[in-house]
Amino acid sequence: MVKLSENHCHGQRCMDAGDLAPLVTEFARHLTVLGHSSLTVSGYDAAARHLAQWLTLSKVAVTDIDDGVTDRFARHRCRCPGIRRVKGVSKKYVRRVCRFVKFLGEREIVQRKPKLALPTLDRWVVEFQDWLRQHRGVTELTIDDMVAWSCGCSRRLAASREAGMPNSFAR
Ligand SMILES: [Zn+2]
Repeated sequence: MVKLSENHCHGQRCMDAGDLAPLVTEFARHLTVLGHSSLTVSGYDAAARHLAQWLTLSKVAVTDIDDGVTDRFARHRCRCPGIRRVKGVSKKYVRRVCRFVKFLGEREIVQRKPKLALPTLDRWVVEFQDWLRQHRGVTELTIDDMVAWSCGCSRRLAASREAGMPNSFAR
């Protein structure tokens, strides 16, 4: 007998984005247009689908997404349907999710609350972004990732600084 209910998915599409599916598709298309590789886009696509599915399971409206929601997602013990069987999500994964949230904010689907806005970035993050731009030739896309990453992870950045990372990377 074929176990259709258990093993019918072989790819990342298993995560059901539900009502957000068109936006996830648009997000992936947007990243492709910006120059991301198909591998990278598929990673972002999977993370966005996962967030969408988790929102549904958690009964959180997309319009209610804020730092608290992304933090909860980052810490959730994953039991979402699909191929993921890892209990947690990595920092990189959360960064991708933040990027999707930013995308939703740009389309005014998620309200741009002060917590998500750029001015809340630590000054050293902005300095680091400038340094990346000037000295490493990093693309705006990557720098943009840094901003998205910091939307829910600035506390980790602060913790890293506390652990001895320099305040300025400009030297
Ligand atoms: Zn999950």
